[in-house]
Amino acid sequence: MHDDQTQNRQTMEAADLKSMDISQLAVFLGSLGEPPFRAKQIFEWMHKKRAVDLEQMTNLSKDLRSRLRQSAKLTVLRPVRVQTSKLDGTKKYLFALEDGNSIESVLMRYRHGNSVCISSQVGCRMACRFCASTIGGLVRDLSPSEMLEQIYRVEADCGERVSHVVVMGTGEPLDNYDNLLQFLRLLSDPNGLPISQRNITVSTCGIAPKIRALADEKLQITLALSLHAPTQKKRERLMPVAAQYELCEVMEACDCYFAKTGRRMTFEYSLIHGVNDTPEDAEELAALLAGKNCHVNLIPVNPVRERDFVQPDGYETLAFKNKLEKYKINVTIRRELGRDIDGACGQLRKKYEEGCGGA
Ligand code: SAH
Repeated sequence: MHDDQTQNRQTMEAADLKSMDISQLAVFLGSLGEPPFRAKQIFEWMHKKRAVDLEQMTNLSKDLRSRLRQSAKLTVLRPVRVQTSKLDGTKKYLFALEDGNSIESVLMRYRHGNSVCISSQVGCRMACRFCASTIGGLVRDLSPSEMLEQIYRVEADCGERVSHVVVMGTGEPLDNYDNLLQFLRLLSDPNGLPISQRNITVSTCGIAPKIRALADEKLQITLALSLHAPTQKKRERLMPVAAQYELCEVMEACDCYFAKTGRRMTFEYSLIHGVNDTPEDAEELAALLAGKNCHVNLIPVNPVRERDFVQPDGYETLAFKNKLEKYKINVTIRRELGRDIDGACGQLRKKYEEGCGGA
């Protein structure tokens, strides 16, 4: 076997320390003959003190550090490009993963704090027609440590705390369910620098059985459903996943999420001119959501180079919102941030991989 193949195998088999909770770390350290209290020490080094190298963990013996280097790894993402919006200070990051893949994350600054939008997969297999992230299909799932690292590296870069996290970047989080759950637990672990579950939002295209499974976890996170159309027929045209999980089944799963967690659902609706933004669409949407304790987020569709979808103008967007409000639906129009820096999901990564470097 070639040297680099041997090295590859070693990297692949190395235990991913940053993806483990304290009890898993204790089991792993036990296998190295170490006492359980080491687990909390190492956990704090990674998640509280944000060590980027095992060598920084100075209360571990040299010998233990060297044994850890042989059998484990400390996942750290490398920023390869950072773009800052001149309009609103939004920052878009392109991170390199260990295996050469790259992912995007976005820092948005609001009055209520800093919010980071993270990716959950490299690429996506959901094939929503208006989305740039899905054009090359799914490459692979992200590990819990790779999801966490996006937040840690953004904090290190901007020198500020992140208070809110939205899992709305590239990928379908519920298609990477186990890693997502582990990530959510680590992110809100009181032994790290916890982010309150109430400040975490997970957005899904509507994988109904996984929404029900998530409801049973009884987390306090906000769940956002990418609705984008008020009827099954229209939704299928925009989102292939709708053929697999019908609208009524998805809405029932969302009701179940609210019933079990008490958390109000968010429904995302990307307005596409001439496709889903007519007064009839608004009426149908109001009927679909009638009586639900929910919030609707209207997002004028972000034009993607490979797609020919067009945003409604400001007047049409407002008319859609007003119609929903007439039916007493809670609704906001999402402020567009970072328009000048490849705002739409997946656009920066695509440009980078095509070699035109986010110019
Ligand atoms: N897979 C998840 C999360 C990633 S996408 C989901 O489907 O929810 C995050 C949100 O951005 C989703 O609501 C998605 O439908 C929306 N989105 C994707 N491309 C968009 C575009 N070009 N314009 C507006 N919204 C878009």
